[in-house]
Amino acid sequence: MARPLRRLSPSSIRTYERCPQMYHLRYNERIRVPSTAAQLLGSAVHTVIEMFYKEKRDGKALDVEAAFDVLDDALDATLHELDEEGRAEIEELRELGYDLVEYYLDEVAPHVRPHLIEERFSFNVPGVDVPMVGYVDLVDQDGTVIDHKTAASPFPADYLAHDIQLLTYSLGYNALRLGARQRPGQLPLASMLPPVRLDVIVKGEEITYQRLEFRYEQEHLEQYVERVNAVAAGIRTADFRPFWQIREPDPDVCHYCDFNSVCTYRLPASPDEPLEGGESESATP
Ligand code: SF4
Repeated sequence: MARPLRRLSPSSIRTYERCPQMYHLRYNERIRVPSTAAQLLGSAVHTVIEMFYKEKRDGKALDVEAAFDVLDDALDATLHELDEEGRAEIEELRELGYDLVEYYLDEVAPHVRPHLIEERFSFNVPGVDVPMVGYVDLVDQDGTVIDHKTAASPFPADYLAHDIQLLTYSLGYNALRLGARQRPGQLPLASMLPPVRLDVIVKGEEITYQRLEFRYEQEHLEQYVERVNAVAAGIRTADFRPFWQIREPDPDVCHYCDFNSVCTYRLPASPDEPLEGGESESATP
């Protein structure tokens, strides 16, 4: 069943671009798949960082022990989502979570002066008649829009040139700054956009920190408008084909897809495994 399109978000755009069928399962069928222990840990660390900056902005200090308590509470609140194996995995990851939090508070947080935290935005993209909505993770007092992630390995150096999430956050923060002065359906010039930064805590053998910074140019905004319009048109026309009917089949996309256990279009992991949905079958309802 295709549901009416009421809004877009960086997450819905990225999901559709990765695989329209993935979008269909997540946003139309609303299939819920349990999070992995690693995803829950990343989300718990995110909660600690958010809490830390809210306290810092309000002139209070969240020391490392209090930060560990926040992490524990966030992890404990997710245990009911997991089976026995997942709960055991969380217990193994908890120590890593303490290390990540401690490292972040020591190495990254002192260089951030929080201005806005988890602020909701909404704006319109030219040619699209539903709003783009989301939350800006963090804006520094110097106006830089910051996102933070935990990852198993560093991100590619050119990641921000293609990432739709931080460009949307930058546009979202710009819309917040302009308020009622924002012209409906018009994007600003790229030169007006705040710079962006991605802080990645890399969980390798040793914990390390990667910082990527970027300023947008006009071509990035033009590509953004094209991409968002293409996704909105695909959803409106109920084009939910699996990605391998549109572009180069890559079994890794299915391997890492949250829905691979329920999707009948999942690509086989090896050439010998038969296709479940049939290669010529269309997923378009
Ligand atoms: S398993 Fe593969 S085809 Fe199915 S939704 Fe995921 S990425 Fe798309």
